[in-house]
Amino acid sequence: MLAVKEKVVNNPDRFTERKCDNCGIKERARMSTIYRGRKRRRSTVDLCKKCSNLSQFRKCAFDRTGKNSVNWNGGIRINNGYRQHYLGKGAYRNEQRIIMEKHLNRSLKKKEKVHHIDCNKLNNKISNLYLCKNMREHSKCHYELERCGFKMLGRYIWFNYANNSYVLNKTKCKRSEKEADFGKTMTRTHTKRFGSLSYRHRYLGNQKYKTIHSIVVEEMLGRRLYANELVHHVDSNTLNNSPRNLQAMSRSDHAICHFSLQKRVSELYIQGIVVFENGFYKEK
Ligand SMILES: [Zn+2]
Ligand SMILES: [Zn+2]
Ligand SMILES: [Zn+2]
Repeated sequence: MLAVKEKVVNNPDRFTERKCDNCGIKERARMSTIYRGRKRRRSTVDLCKKCSNLSQFRKCAFDRTGKNSVNWNGGIRINNGYRQHYLGKGAYRNEQRIIMEKHLNRSLKKKEKVHHIDCNKLNNKISNLYLCKNMREHSKCHYELERCGFKMLGRYIWFNYANNSYVLNKTKCKRSEKEADFGKTMTRTHTKRFGSLSYRHRYLGNQKYKTIHSIVVEEMLGRRLYANELVHHVDSNTLNNSPRNLQAMSRSDHAICHFSLQKRVSELYIQGIVVFENGFYKEK
């Protein structure tokens, strides 16, 4: 350790003799270099060039991870809507996986996914968790949520045209009478398949086709659709192009719209109207 005089402190660029606290070697060093070393190690230990590279001195004097961290709040955090537990060395694990592992008495494979039956990511009771073999089976769970919702349309769930979402009360879910007349007389229509979905098209001539739903919606809006807009089929039947069944919305709104349906079904599940069995949602 070096006795720091008042003068030296005032002039940190001054050269001075540094004595290594590890091996005892004395060497010339700037005061600023000595201060920087102390700051990095968070201690008053001075080391020579060789010793400062040794592994036991490379880390700072205190471990500031985990419990010693300034931001420590008991090892539990909420990330992406999921509650996570601290495992050490900066790693966290989702709570639902920990609980499922305890229940099964084995560790989960990486591809195995845990689904929250009521769609509440923070409700990690074992009765609310369903183990899916892989991502595909988990996607199916969410597809089932939507399928169940579309079946209950008009009885428990309605579509709100004003804010592009599905709701549980019938009010404000009507399309005006004017709009309901569009697209009634359509000739020269063809059905085309796009992956698993098929849409009706109208032949425009010159080998060009246009989807009936975009023709009807454009008539209703009185303008062309924007590039980021698409047409949502309210009852999921892509061949039902009645104006009541169509709504134009942006791509991001469309994702939110489908998610709102899943959310409504999960609310009906909490009310006991919908039941969950082996990955399928059914009306009671
Ligand atoms: Zn040394
Ligand atoms: Zn899920
Ligand atoms: Zn849609």
